[in-house]
Amino acid sequence: MIRIPSRSHIALFLLLVVVLLVSACSKKPQLYRGSVFTFGTIVDYSIASPDPALAKRAIEAIQQDLDYMHVAFHAWHPGPLGRVNQLLKTTAFFTANPSVLPLIKESRQLSILSQGLFNPAIGNLIRAWGFQRDLGPAGMAPPDASVIQSWLAKKPGMTDIIIKNIQMRSTNPAVRLDLGAVAKGYAMERIIQHLQDLGIKNVILNAGGDIKAIGHHPDGRPWYVGITHPRQKGAVLAGLDVMPGESVFTSGDYERFFMYKGKRYNHIIDPRTGYPASHTQSVTVITPSATLADAASTALFVAGPAQWPAIAKAMHIDYVLLVDAHGNAEATPAMLKRLKQINPTLKIRSRSLP
Ligand code: ADP
Ligand code: MG
Repeated sequence: MIRIPSRSHIALFLLLVVVLLVSACSKKPQLYRGSVFTFGTIVDYSIASPDPALAKRAIEAIQQDLDYMHVAFHAWHPGPLGRVNQLLKTTAFFTANPSVLPLIKESRQLSILSQGLFNPAIGNLIRAWGFQRDLGPAGMAPPDASVIQSWLAKKPGMTDIIIKNIQMRSTNPAVRLDLGAVAKGYAMERIIQHLQDLGIKNVILNAGGDIKAIGHHPDGRPWYVGITHPRQKGAVLAGLDVMPGESVFTSGDYERFFMYKGKRYNHIIDPRTGYPASHTQSVTVITPSATLADAASTALFVAGPAQWPAIAKAMHIDYVLLVDAHGNAEATPAMLKRLKQINPTLKIRSRSLP
């Protein structure tokens, strides 16, 4: 005798199929952690994936993409940007390598947005200070004041650059691009997109304290990071949960600097004076785009205690934490709400954007 299955039997059977399918697809994600050395820094990655082969492909992609972009965006080695710099001097139109054009275009816009405080056209000034060297300017002295004066008189800026399709030129022969303040952020943005294309949903990259994350930790919590204390070695200013898609970038005076006659000269230069910005120890910003976050942390470092709220507003940055030269900290109300486990030695003043 053939028994016709009842509706409830069919429903039960379908439910069983769904449960089996879901459990087959949702193998528990594992955490893959490691680091690659490139871009003059160590890039730590944490990838949460249920698929070891996919995680391996992702790690290879991180290393390869970083290697390519390090060569393409290096201002001081021969390569695509190095060639652009040679040709900008001529002030004639030339065809730029398409690998660097989107970054140059975006940097031009971000420089305008920052009111010129983020100014990657200052390559010649960076070289005058010696900060183009890979290993840092140990035993250096500041350049002669006349060198800085003559650079200031030429006023190289990103608005000197004209881009038409893949042709570009500079109207000012003193323009030399150093994209060191933005290239790392742009590279991290590209890599995260590549990993998403591969099918990775949960990853956090940390390039010497500059962070970009998507998704969350394998146990479902948000990714959690600490913000480096600019003066206490190994200590953090505070911690925070990184929401999916966010970038957390810090510019500080504590990694690349030299001491001369008891004074600290750091690698972030105020394009208005030609001298390192000395009113700030560190600035941290949070925003979705890593490219914007990188440019903005540098711009706000130059803006310093007097001007950071105005520049943050102009660059559409809501989350800012700044430590000034005396160790006093200020943060936007939005940032204050995000900070956890604040260093007990730190008192943070709340400061709103205009
Ligand atoms: P880091 O790369 O150390 O995290 P930044 O993102 O702030 O720090 O970039 C600093 C680098 O940017 C410097 O080493 C120099 O090459 C370049 N730079 C310095 N001052 C400026 C500036 N005012 N605008 C744009 N780039 C700058
Ligand atoms: Mg930067």
